[in-house]
Amino acid sequence: MSVRASTAVVVAGLMGAALVPETAATAEDDDTRPADASRAQSDAAAARPGARPGSPRWQRAYQRRFLAEVDNASPRKWSRAMARQVGRVGTEGNAETLRYAVRELRAAGLQVSVDEYSVYASRPVDIALQQTAPRQRPIASLEEVPAGTPNADDLADAYNAYSPGGQVSGEVVYVNYGRPQDYAALESRGVDLDGKIALARYGANFRGVKSDLADQHGAAGMLIYSDPADDGFVKGPVYPEGPWRPADAIQRGSIQEIYRYPGDPLTPGEPSTPGTPRIAPEEAGNLPSLPTAPIAYGEARPVLRALSGARAPKDWQGGFDFPYRFGPGGSEVSLDLQIDYEQVPVRNIVVRVPGTRPGKHVLVGAHRDTWAFGARDNLSGWVSTMEIARALGDLYRDGWRPRRSIVLAGWDGEEYGLLGSTEYAEARARRLRANAVAYVNMDGTAGSEFAAGAVPSLDRLLFSTTRRVDAPRGQGSVYDAWSGQADGQRPEIERLGSGSDYTALLQHVGVASADVGYTGDWGLYHSAYDDTRSIEETVDPRYRSQTTAAEVSGLMALRLATEDVIPMRYSDYAETTADLLAELAPDAPAGTGVEEATQRAREWLRATRALEERGASLRQDGVTAGERPAVRQVNRAVLAQEEALTRPAGIPSRPWFKHQVFAPGLTTGYAAQPLPALAEAAEADDADAFEQASDQLERSLRTATEAARAGAS
Ligand SMILES: [Zn+2]
Repeated sequence: MSVRASTAVVVAGLMGAALVPETAATAEDDDTRPADASRAQSDAAAARPGARPGSPRWQRAYQRRFLAEVDNASPRKWSRAMARQVGRVGTEGNAETLRYAVRELRAAGLQVSVDEYSVYASRPVDIALQQTAPRQRPIASLEEVPAGTPNADDLADAYNAYSPGGQVSGEVVYVNYGRPQDYAALESRGVDLDGKIALARYGANFRGVKSDLADQHGAAGMLIYSDPADDGFVKGPVYPEGPWRPADAIQRGSIQEIYRYPGDPLTPGEPSTPGTPRIAPEEAGNLPSLPTAPIAYGEARPVLRALSGARAPKDWQGGFDFPYRFGPGGSEVSLDLQIDYEQVPVRNIVVRVPGTRPGKHVLVGAHRDTWAFGARDNLSGWVSTMEIARALGDLYRDGWRPRRSIVLAGWDGEEYGLLGSTEYAEARARRLRANAVAYVNMDGTAGSEFAAGAVPSLDRLLFSTTRRVDAPRGQGSVYDAWSGQADGQRPEIERLGSGSDYTALLQHVGVASADVGYTGDWGLYHSAYDDTRSIEETVDPRYRSQTTAAEVSGLMALRLATEDVIPMRYSDYAETTADLLAELAPDAPAGTGVEEATQRAREWLRATRALEERGASLRQDGVTAGERPAVRQVNRAVLAQEEALTRPAGIPSRPWFKHQVFAPGLTTGYAAQPLPALAEAAEADDADAFEQASDQLERSLRTATEAARAGAS
């Protein structure tokens, strides 16, 4: 198929008839506009859900129809077909899976468009690694996949995307996970990293943080390996017998500094479309400068084995049966990284299910690009998303219409630095702020344990939705199984840091976001063995968890798109914020404090409670025509909340991140850093910066409070 520039919208299929272009969206909440409701209603009469079309009972009947419609047959077929390709961004395999998915979605009667950008990215040409002491030997940069593996020739050398190219060599120093405390431990023992090759193990933080910190500590280069204690044989049987990492499996991965800003390094805050000026690569604030490469544990073993120096502490010891030492000495390595930089096409797939009031929309998405075959990461999330789209298309043909539109996205280039979702959000920031209700992300839906992250306003929707979906393996509801994983307690919902495609939508634009998936025993992350065989023999043999994730995310989207009063609770957010402030209080620099901000959070709590009470009373015995304006007023207030938590100036250490309550940690990369500007000022013991950060947060909380009050009266 032909793929055009970023604004290209290719309309096909049954849904084309009822379409309203995205540009027709207005900032006004148009819940009461007559729109084409009458047509939707007459179509719906044929579906006989036994209730007045558009009514809450009618929508709930269709929610049940949706759950009945979602099935594992299409996800299985799609996953098998796409996992034959290497789906790395910018490759022919990626283009092939794009064509396939677009064809399948159109065949399901859906309106599909391709949203394209041109992004500055790296490409591995030749990765040549060697151990040079005590003996000379090559270090492999590719798995030995079984003969006959389709498209095995498309597996390029495993590498760290956005590493600079170049040649470096030297003595090795083992740095454990490469966290700040690991470098402090090295320093306290007098181990000097200057000019050395740092050897870090994967885990505990984002690999871009490892490379960044090693660079800051004077290393000349870095190797990152997967220790068998973390996801290899120490955990259990390895591929193909089990789900854990075999000796030659390499964790590829980007080291772009996504915690400074993600997306195209040359267009921070702007979409990488043809008209956007690019900054020079030297000016980019998220490009690493340390030559870095990933290796398998089978290759790391002889390097670790030969290291001399003092014995490392107990919590630095890994899964091999010899003592791990700090070095330097004993082991030397050389890295010869031939890495090209070029403009790469990044193509998101966007499916639109138009609502009867099409201005507002709910987003659901997953990245569609993969490092190798990527059956779990992330064809699982992508086929879950495609299955939601397919099932919604089926309902649509029966005359069902959501109130608000539902937009489903297959993001490209996530693995390199959240490229597709970031450029999409940057291209539409203003429209998304005005019209996006929420975003539900899926990155990894194959596994045995349910897991979810969200902003606090979506906690209750997650709990109540998971109670209405059956668990994959007869454990009652998803909520029951999820709670069972937490010893019967209320399950924990993680707060969102970074590492997947909600980042730009939540933290740059201010769209309330959730992350839904399945996890569990699995060590094949970003290796060539994340394939159909591993899914079907160990991880999700009947594609049941991938189907269940589609039910949970799809039902959340349906409820957000169809309920009269948008089901998000900012009183939970206000309480969480007050708790976070209390946790931070002891670290406030002398002469400062969190009293003012806490006071603002309490006012916000009162205002959001009043707003929610009004919403509940309007909803109670059905919304009458006369109550529509009041419902619209409540919804407008709800939708203003998340955006209010962003500030145009962003947080001082990285202004691209606008959100005042949640950002990724600077030394963790993935994990959420709550109240980032305050926390960083506290960490630096900088009273002025703390006061300024508090002032920004208070402004956000006041804006949110005023918006809530306007909706409550
Ligand atoms: Zn992923």
